[in-house]
Amino acid sequence: MFVGHYGPSFALRRTGGVPLWVLFLAVQFVDVLWSILVMAGVEKVRLTEGFTASSPLDLYYMPYTHSLTASISWALIVGWLGSFIWGRRGGVVIGICVLSHWIIDLPVHVADLPLWGNEYKVGFGLWNRPVIAFVLEAGVLLGGVAIYARHARAKLPIWIFAIVMLGIQYSNTILPPPESPTRFALMALTSYFGLAAAAWFVEKKWGNPTQTLVQ
Ligand SMILES: [Zn+2]
Repeated sequence: MFVGHYGPSFALRRTGGVPLWVLFLAVQFVDVLWSILVMAGVEKVRLTEGFTASSPLDLYYMPYTHSLTASISWALIVGWLGSFIWGRRGGVVIGICVLSHWIIDLPVHVADLPLWGNEYKVGFGLWNRPVIAFVLEAGVLLGGVAIYARHARAKLPIWIFAIVMLGIQYSNTILPPPESPTRFALMALTSYFGLAAAAWFVEKKWGNPTQTLVQ
């Protein structure tokens, strides 16, 4: 998944008092790390045309970012670090957001998500059912946005932001795939930080100002 990951960021924004842009990075934390580790040659991916109906990515080695055990560990570490800035409740929300990445990846990935190390791989493979995968992705994103928009100063721009995100997701599926894994990782990394910056701007202009108070 890509934009579906942001559903929990929107949904949990008020619960923990953590800024939306931080939660945008939290839900993609393991993918940010994955992008860096792919560029460093530590985790591995190959591009195989038609690998799934939605993407050419054969993610055959990613034990440090996308195994369940690694995801739980990152959730605990990042949540703990976050608690120094946003308090215990904020830290818990950040941890949940980090772990949500793996849980939301589970239905769409083919069996490439290891439970431990690089073994016992799971994934329900909805990427081979692109329409269902897209509807699920949109549902998770829009469900979170609906919760967030209730308390926003201006609702329409928030919904427009969500529709733009879905547009980016859709364009990813129709544009030609990147030429190399490194290029793909760089594009992914750029989009995670770009969307976090956009979330900062959208929240500052149209979100609820009281939400940014540290609790
Ligand atoms: Zn991922």
